[in-house]
Amino acid sequence: MATSLKVAVIGAGVSGLIAARELQRESHQVVAFEKSHRLGGTWVYDPRFESDLLGLDLNREIIHGSLYKSLRTNLPRQLMSFIDFKLNDKTYGDERLFPGHEEVLKFLEDFAGYFELTELIRFNTVVTRVELVDSEIIEFEVESKTNGVNTVEVFDAVVTCNGHNNEPRPALNDTGIEKWSKKQMHSHNYRVPEPFRDQIVVVIGNGPSALDLSREIATVAKEVHMSSRSPHVKVSKSEKFSNIWQHAKIDCINDDGTITFEDGLSIDAHIIFHCTGYKCHVPFLKTNGIVRVQDKRIGPLYKHVFPPQLAPRLSFVGLPERSLTFLIVECQSKWIAKTLSMKISLPSKDQMLRDIKEHHGDIEDDGFPKAYTHFFEIENDYIDWVSAQLGMNVEKKFAEMFKYIIYCAISGNYDDIMNLFKVKFGI
Ligand code: FAD
Repeated sequence: MATSLKVAVIGAGVSGLIAARELQRESHQVVAFEKSHRLGGTWVYDPRFESDLLGLDLNREIIHGSLYKSLRTNLPRQLMSFIDFKLNDKTYGDERLFPGHEEVLKFLEDFAGYFELTELIRFNTVVTRVELVDSEIIEFEVESKTNGVNTVEVFDAVVTCNGHNNEPRPALNDTGIEKWSKKQMHSHNYRVPEPFRDQIVVVIGNGPSALDLSREIATVAKEVHMSSRSPHVKVSKSEKFSNIWQHAKIDCINDDGTITFEDGLSIDAHIIFHCTGYKCHVPFLKTNGIVRVQDKRIGPLYKHVFPPQLAPRLSFVGLPERSLTFLIVECQSKWIAKTLSMKISLPSKDQMLRDIKEHHGDIEDDGFPKAYTHFFEIENDYIDWVSAQLGMNVEKKFAEMFKYIIYCAISGNYDDIMNLFKVKFGI
């Protein structure tokens, strides 16, 4: 017989919303905690930025949002959709294949309205502590604060959907960058290009933010020098932008403040701009060391979702990075909801731990650092695996589209991706 549990969902972004819907469909009693006054998480554009531009000061006021004003999605609208609620079926006046962030937020608001999720959300309520009450029965105390008032409640299960694109991970290493006295900033705090006007900028990183933002700041900056540790990048001058150069990684910061790249060039820059991604951050979670959060790895987690010792009562949605987020979080949420109602069973604790060990071993064997634990460009069969647990078939077309995007990014065709995509998939 199906079991109905009292479940806390932490966060009402994409992951929290779809988790709430799936849990509700399985007749669990859901309370979704959201620290902001509105739903949407990352997709709520916030023009404010943090006082510490690198995000190192632990006492800074945290701004959740990382979106910049001009952001368009880096996936086509077909891939920013849920299985039965699609962005490409909606009309918001913007027909572009890669829509702006405003449209994604409207889509999420429509999604919440359509499935009556708003009633499940406690807005302006920050979760400050999730603590395992008893590791035998497995129950959690959830402490939260609404307008200064503290509440402690006990839940049968907790689904953690607090987002992982909010805690900057600047590239501070042994090259001396941390002591560089001029302006340094992380992309988390970027909103508009104006502060870069007439500046000589070093952009560290090689992901979507580094690529997008280098092009955007190049419209106002004097020079943009991209620096990457990836062995795939070609040291060169951009063919499309007269003021962008690609370099190898930074070799050292010299005593006079100039920056030398491993390709030998030295420049006198005004700003180092870190487009280097984010750390995992779950400050409220207390599990007596059962779940550890280290840099970009949360573990041990079976298939990026369940810590074996507390499965299925504690789970994580939305950890996969560089992935088909919408589709993956939907599949993960269905898997969690059905596992909690005992319609799907998990392998034994030992089997799950073995699987995790193997996964972590594979990452090391392939020469990737631990920070790649939840990095999905290299793990393409995950959606097939999770959907198979659900007895579902996800359209192959989605995975093909995603693989094509990754291929374009890796092969340097990223600039033309929007046109190439239309030609290849006829949409
Ligand atoms: P979030 O959207 O971060 O939501 C987490 C929610 O939890 C927030 O509402 C937050 O307020 C709440 N919360 C956090 N802590 C607490 C707490 N203690 N108590 C209560 N509430 C809490 N993905 C794509 O698919 N396509 C794209 O084009 C794309 N572009 C991106 C561009 C940028 C610049 C960034 C940063 C990310 C992008 N992503 C993109 C990834 C994006 O993060 C996901 O699409 C998705 O928004 C992740 O949703 P989430 O719910 O997991 O996290």
